[in-house]
This record gives sequence, structure tokens and C-alpha cells, in this order.
Amino acid sequence: MNQERYSIQHIAQVLNAKAFLPSPGAVVRKLLTDSRTVIDPEGSLFFAVKAKRDGHEFIEDAYAHGVRNFVISESAYATTYPKANFILVDDVLQALQALAGYNRQTNELKVIGITGSNGKTIVKEWLYQLLAADFNIIRSPKSFNSQIGVPLSVWQITTDHTLGIFEAGISTKGEMEALANIILPTIGILTNIGEAHAEGFESKKEKLEEKLKLFKEAELLVYSPTYVAGIAIADLPGKQKFSWSTTEPADLQITFIEPIEGRNYIRGIYQHKEIECLIPFSDKAAVENGIICWATLLAMGYSPEEADLRLERLTQVSMRLELINGIENCSIIDDSYSADISSLAIALDFLNQQNQHPKKTLILSDIYETGKSNEVLYQEIAALLEQKNLNRLIGIGPNISAFANLFKIETSFYDSTQAFIEQLPAIHFANETILVKGARRFEFGRISKLLTQKIHDTILEINLNALAANLQFYRAKLNPGVKTMAMVKAFSYGSGSFEIANLLQYHKVDYLAVAYADEGIALRKAGISLPIMVMSPEPSAFDAMVKHQLEPEIYSVQVLKSFLNFLPNDQTGYPIHLKMDTGMHRLGFEGADLPELLAVLKATDQLKVMSIFTHLVATDSHEHDDFTTQQLQKFVILYDELVAQLTYRPIQHALNTSGITRWPNAQMDMVRLGIGLYGFDGALNGNKGLQTVAVLKTTVTQVKNLTAGETVGYSRKGVLPEGGKIATVKIGYADGYSRRFGNGVGKMLINGQLVPTIGSICMDMCMLNVTGLNVKTGDEVIVFNGQYTIVDLAAQIDTIPYEILTNVSQRVKRIYFYE
Ligand SMILES: *Cc1c(COP(=O)(O)O)cnc(C)c1O
Repeated sequence: MNQERYSIQHIAQVLNAKAFLPSPGAVVRKLLTDSRTVIDPEGSLFFAVKAKRDGHEFIEDAYAHGVRNFVISESAYATTYPKANFILVDDVLQALQALAGYNRQTNELKVIGITGSNGKTIVKEWLYQLLAADFNIIRSPKSFNSQIGVPLSVWQITTDHTLGIFEAGISTKGEMEALANIILPTIGILTNIGEAHAEGFESKKEKLEEKLKLFKEAELLVYSPTYVAGIAIADLPGKQKFSWSTTEPADLQITFIEPIEGRNYIRGIYQHKEIECLIPFSDKAAVENGIICWATLLAMGYSPEEADLRLERLTQVSMRLELINGIENCSIIDDSYSADISSLAIALDFLNQQNQHPKKTLILSDIYETGKSNEVLYQEIAALLEQKNLNRLIGIGPNISAFANLFKIETSFYDSTQAFIEQLPAIHFANETILVKGARRFEFGRISKLLTQKIHDTILEINLNALAANLQFYRAKLNPGVKTMAMVKAFSYGSGSFEIANLLQYHKVDYLAVAYADEGIALRKAGISLPIMVMSPEPSAFDAMVKHQLEPEIYSVQVLKSFLNFLPNDQTGYPIHLKMDTGMHRLGFEGADLPELLAVLKATDQLKVMSIFTHLVATDSHEHDDFTTQQLQKFVILYDELVAQLTYRPIQHALNTSGITRWPNAQMDMVRLGIGLYGFDGALNGNKGLQTVAVLKTTVTQVKNLTAGETVGYSRKGVLPEGGKIATVKIGYADGYSRRFGNGVGKMLINGQLVPTIGSICMDMCMLNVTGLNVKTGDEVIVFNGQYTIVDLAAQIDTIPYEILTNVSQRVKRIYFYE
């Protein structure tokens, strides 16, 4: 039954809901809440959940992708597609949760439920590594731990699984009960309770009590008394309890922690005996997560010797997909940390979202521990690859090779990673996107290393999830129907070009804007189909602009006339945008220009005014609010005057990032979102609510000890009167690290410590004063990140974050990642 999953009719019965089922026997294998992530359309059931957006709006899109089964709460939709199945419920999210809960209850298996403030995903992934030898495990993909993520994860349990590991995350009171009913853990793990995220709760105790609700039916609870202070042991859930602590008596009492050579040696008392283990990581968080895993193994009955053996072999958990430039103009998406079908689907979505090249290749290893027969598994993968329009598969491993005939695309197969690497010089790769995805034991890191270009030691890391979250942050402030134009000028404020535009297109912004035609042409060549406004259209580029459907900003009658002269006679309705100058005094029409402007516009049908806009000069500052109000009033007058004489109504827009934050009444028809996307907003105190998108990092190239009186760098500007130690790092003014940061003005973070520059900044390098610190060649150096921000850097040299960000030069490699 379960391998086949449930029929839609069965699901309607489980949900006890009204249903319109023209095909009652349709089998549901996948649950969907996002119409962009369809994998198996016939086997999918789309839940029109009302979250930030109303899922009902995406029924049409899902239908267009081939989905024929829907759960809805708006009855009007039930008759939109007579051939599709509709189940009508009161609350779609609750229905999704109820169905997942039913699947959980139908399957007898051990289930580990994890909650806490930090470490949930790492503990989940490590327990998976530690227990995979003994169980057939199903676990939450990535950090799917929300009201939607948990049911989607639990739905994947089938009769073949013997252990589930799921994480649950909550942000306000009342949320855990639903998750507890879906996961029904038999073993509960409370990782820790931090001070952070207490926002949705009145107190720390309330937060703790809410989290503990996950374990109400658990047979065993693993916890630390440190994190449950204030609650009597007898009141903790769990029939049996297993405690660990570094400070007080516990079932596993840690007595000694010592870092040695990148690892941590830990000793403790367990059942009156001294026991020990090695955790192969050096950071503090890894120690706590490691102890939690250690305690869990002991609580589950593993011997201390066995637990130690397994812990020692833990490997790094990296949840990110990295997008890197590769050999022969290829783009490489490196995901060599895991291979299971749900993470494969996520990686393929990323591949399609990034749409870097028309040709797409997947290098995939055998996949293990799926709870499915190989036949079913590789059939499913073959269907997935077809669905996602992959062009080529390179399969590595005996299992995938055995099912070669299932794949209907170009394929080649190799027995092992080594066999592939030996053949690599003879394999043709060019102008394609290559997703490298392999189970850990296949060591695909070796393959991605060979396929990627050598990375310059200084890199700018761009977190695409953070960028998408920032977009959502501003969208949530917009009135219904207000459009978003995303500003991607100056290489998306230094963050990249088509990688960012691809993401914005995927998230369905309405417009893009660039400064110059070249930037727009590059976006078109990369397959961006959104409308693009060009803010400085030079006459020499008119030809290329029209060829690539780029829409000029027209700011004077002269530019208007020269564009019109240029347009071929048979061209009608070419989209343009009119810029009004209401106080910036940079570019734009003023009131006196309107009669002439209108005369030209009315005399031609070759142009269509898509939008009319103005730019505000001080949306972030209270001090100039009167001026902003005047600008807006002027703009409305100019706009009305134009519209009165046109036969249609162009889009009206004025607000930039800080305008969206501070001028909610001036959203008009569209807003122009710039620096907010990249994580900064001068109108938000401490950028609250935004996520850091860019991290600039480099490495220590050399460390030197200097004696008293020696000097550092050009013109002997750096002086260490008492001698000391310096570290040379590979970033200089040619990389965008301004000379103004020299001689101690600028600082960087090494191993968490802020160290000042010493001497002048050179073209390609600079020196840091690391006297008294333990710093070695190869150490990572952070120039800016989420803690030490571009706002801090900007303050040191009296500039603005915009300049710091856009100054990072193009020779600094960008690495994009997606979690
Ligand atoms: C750059 C720019 C924006 C975006 O400004 P932010 O402050 O970065 O949001 C908006 N409109 C125009 C005309 C711009 O040039």
C-alpha cells in the first residue's frame, strides 16, 4: 500500500472532506505547496496553503505544469478545471498536517524528534550519519522544520523505513502541538534553549514549555538540565529520561573537554565509569552538538566504545549548494554532501532557477538508504530528470549503471569516482551547467575540484536565500497589486549579475533596472525575459537596446527625439519610461518641459510610455521629510498633467528601499527596490529584519615576526615600536579595499578577533597587526560579514554602505550559495 501511496479518494476520506473527484483512483505520491517545484505532476497533490501569498493564486500555474489534484478552501475554485480532482476543506494547512499525521500513524517505526534553539539540523544530520548503518532512515530534508516543512517531511515515511529523524522549529506559542501530532516522536531531543528568538514568547519559560510539548508521547527524552532550569524533572515529558551536563551531575556528566589539532577530546562519567570520545571538529558549537549525539547513542543502548568509534568518523555537514565558475565556460553547482531524491529535486530546482546555460548536465552517484527498491528509485530519478529538462546524465557507481536503460537522455556511466576521473580528459564539457551530486562515500569533492577554476584567495560569497528573504521582507510591506522593480545596476550592487537576476525572475519581480545598456544585454544573453529598464541609454547603444527589448529611461526632450529618430518607421508602441526631476537635479523633465514632451508623444504611435517616475533624495532621513513630501506632491502634479493628455495610464512610481520602509502611503503602482535586497536600509535601525547577503573573505598568505623598530610596507608607514607580528592578506585597493583603510583605520576579523591594518594598503595585498594572537598561514580572514558589517566599514572611511559594496572589484570571485 505505502510504496504505492494513497489514492485521492482515500485522502479525501482521511480528511473527511467534501470532494469533486472525476478521477478518484489517481495515486498521490508527492505533496506540493509551491507550484514552482513540481517533480511528478500526475502523482502530485497541490495544497493551496494561505501563507504570505494565497496558494489559490498558484492553482493555475500548478495546473499548467500538469498537476491534477488539489486541496483548496475556496469553493469557487472547485469548478475551474472539470478534469481535475478537488478536495474542499476549511483550512488547507491543517489538512496538510492531518494527512502527514495520518501517514505517521499508519507506519510503525522509531522516530527521533529534535527541537531547540540551535543545532537542530546539525544534530539531525549527524544522527543520520551515526545511525545509518543500523536503520533505514528517513529524515527532514535540509532544515524543513516549519508548519509546512514538517508535514512535507513526514509524508515521505514509507513502510520500508525503520527510523525517522525530524526537526521541529517554532516561533510563537501554540505552534508545537500541531508539529507534535505529526511527528509523534518516540525519542525526543532538546538541543538547547538560547536567549535569542524569544520574540514570539512572553518569557524563556513559556518558550521552553512550548518546545517540550513536542515530546508529550515520547518514550525517551535526551536533555541537559542546564536548559530546563525552572522545571521539575518529574514534570518533564518522556517515560524515560537521559540527561547530559558539563556542570552538574547527569547520566552523562562531562568532566573534561580539550581541543587538540582541530579536534575535541571529551571525557565524561557514565554509569559510574569514565568514558571518552573524540569529536573531529574544533568549534564550540560542534562540541555541544557532538555531546548531544553522544548522549543519544548511549541512551539508545550503544556501548561507549561503539559510540566513540562512530563519533570519530563524523563529517562536516554543509547544507549549501555552491555555484562556481568552472572549466570551459561551464558553471558548476557543487552539492557533493548528500544524495537522496528530495535533495536532488531541490538541487535540480536550483539548476533550473539559475538557468546559466541552455545545456544541463548532472553527475550523480548511486543513492542509498531510500526505502525504495533500486528499480523504483532509478525510475523515479529518470522521470525527474526528464521533468527538469536535463540534457545529460553521467552516472557513477554500479547501481545507477545497472539501470542505464531507464534514462532517455544522453548518458554515460562509470563504475567509480576514480574511473570517471581517469577518463575526464576525454570527456567533452563546454558552456553547460553541471550539477555535481554524490553520496558522501563517492567523494565527489574530488570531481568538483577538477571541474572548477582555481579560486582566487579573496572571494565574495553571496547568499541567495538571504537575498530572496530580503525581497520577501519588502514585498510584505506592499499594498496588494503594487509591483516591484528590482534595481540590479552596477552588477547588482556588486553582488553579481545574472545570478541575481535569475533569482529575482524566479521569484517573479515585475521589472528589472540597470544603469547601462551593456548590463541589460548581458542579462538578455543569460536568458532573462523580464522587462528591463535602462537608466542611462546612450544613443550609441539604441540599436542593441531595441534588438534586446530593453526599455530606455527618457529624461529629456532631446533624448526622446533622438530615440524616436532612431526607431524604425514600422515600429509601434516601443516601451519607454519618463523620469521627472522633482528635486534631485540630476536627470529628468521639469514642469516647463511638459508641453514640448507631450507634443512629441502625441504626434507618434511609435512609443508607449510604460511608466512615469521620480527619484526621492532623502527618504531615509527625518530631517528632510518636508522636502520629500514636496517632491511627492510635485511628482503627482507632473504625472497628472501627463496622464490627462495620454490615452492610457502608465505605471507611477517613486519609492526606493528606504522609501518603502518610511513612506508606505507613497507606494503608488510600483516601488524600486535596491540596496534593501542586498541587506541594508538606512531607514531601518541596525537593518533589523534584513539578512546579510554578502560576505567578503580572504586568507592569510604569510605571517612574520618583526623586531622593535622595523617598519611595514611602502614609505615605511607601518611602525611597531616594540616589535610584534604581522599577517599579510591578499586583498588590496585593486580588489576594492580602499587605501583609506590603511594605517589602522580599517580592521578585519581573524578567528573571531578584530585586528587593525598596519602600513599602507597595497594594490593586491595589505598587512594586519596580529601581535600576540595565534594566527597562521591559511587562516580565514573576514573583511565584512553579518557581524562586522559594511556599515562598520563605511563609518571608518566616512562613506556609505553602497560604496563599500559596489567597490568590490570584478576580479574578486563571486560564489553563490543556496541552502
Ligand atoms: C539606485 C536607484 C534606486 C534604488 O535605490 P536604493 O536606495 O538602493 O533602494 C531607485 N531608483 C533609482 C532611479 C535609482 O537609481
